[in-house]
Amino acid sequence: MENQNTFPYHFNNNSCKTCGGKCCRGRSGYVWASMEELQKMAVAREMDFSSFFEHYVRQVEERLALQERFVNNEYLCCFFDPYDTRCTIYENRPEQCKTFPFWERYRDYPQQILIECPGISVSEADTELNQSGNHQSEKDRL
Ligand code: SF4
Repeated sequence: MENQNTFPYHFNNNSCKTCGGKCCRGRSGYVWASMEELQKMAVAREMDFSSFFEHYVRQVEERLALQERFVNNEYLCCFFDPYDTRCTIYENRPEQCKTFPFWERYRDYPQQILIECPGISVSEADTELNQSGNHQSEKDRL
């Protein structure tokens, strides 16, 4: 069971073994990645960077995100294997994936992450924290 003190919920990563990759598939979304992260992924895949970029990266205004694939009526991150239900670049996944589900946007709205991730639970202590408004400032994150 993982907890980050200032978040009003707990995360049990054992749920990842059985949830089927809910955070990597479903609705369309953005998995943001830095140039440095993308370069590491390209090396791990043993691809030259321009081929890697063409196959797996999309530019969204000034930012870079991983491509999606539309398969069987849902969107998958391009690195998600729906048959083995796993991330194929797990060791080199972007920071956004590493920090899930402890994202700032869920801190004040834990109801949303409760719906999206079966590994989330809220204890009585969490509820008290939630009500006390004991929040980190944005600059403290990562
Ligand atoms: S990079 Fe890996 S962990 Fe992140 S969304 Fe894609 S498949 Fe999931």
